[in-house]
Amino acid sequence: MQDKYSEIHRFLQNAHVRLVAVSKTKPVESIRQLYDKGQRDFGENKVQELTEKAAQLPADMQWHMIGHLQKNKVKYIAPFIHMIHSVDSMALLAEINKQAMKHKRIISCLLQMHIAKEETKFGMNAAELFALLQDDNYKAMQNIQVAGLMGMATLTDNLETIRSEFRGLHQLFKTVQSTYFADKPQFKEISMGMSSDYIIAVEEGATIVRIGSLIFGERNV
Ligand SMILES: *Cc1c(COP(=O)(O)O)cnc(C)c1O
Repeated sequence: MQDKYSEIHRFLQNAHVRLVAVSKTKPVESIRQLYDKGQRDFGENKVQELTEKAAQLPADMQWHMIGHLQKNKVKYIAPFIHMIHSVDSMALLAEINKQAMKHKRIISCLLQMHIAKEETKFGMNAAELFALLQDDNYKAMQNIQVAGLMGMATLTDNLETIRSEFRGLHQLFKTVQSTYFADKPQFKEISMGMSSDYIIAVEEGATIVRIGSLIFGERNV
């Protein structure tokens, strides 16, 4: 585990890409081992697991919520979450804004786009994204900061499919950046790439990759 982490870390550092270590299902001891090597960004996909682990680990860890998030659970992570990658509706964004306000925080959010062929994956399409960014309710939100886009490629062995999906997300990112965030450097992140496809993601312009099993070992779920 350790050597793989160092190798990935070095590769990503050279590419100026941030690593979110996805620790879901893994024990706090494994997370602490990585923390001791200097890793600070960790990702979880379930609110309860995330809050339980965060309570047992150092306060300077940066927690990323990467899984589907229900509105009624935002309040549990609002006090401390570093970034939410999985925002896929106006209603969810509004709830994050409301809970962030209670804690006098500004929470960084990524808008999750549906780029895969599978029906089951969450995320918005481009029309929904544009509608959100033009919405007056969104423009009035003071306690969220839209920092970029997130996407998950189709689960397939076809590398060209994966590459074209990542390339499409990067293209969309550039369009959105120049249209809605021209004078706002906050919009700068593209979160894409996991254990099986992170090298392609980096080649296609990812600024954040989310890697779990390659670092921590396979999950038995
Ligand atoms: C689990 C998960 C990952 C990491 O997956 P690995 O294949 O273990 O690297 C990345 N992103 C999301 C949204 C996940 O749920």
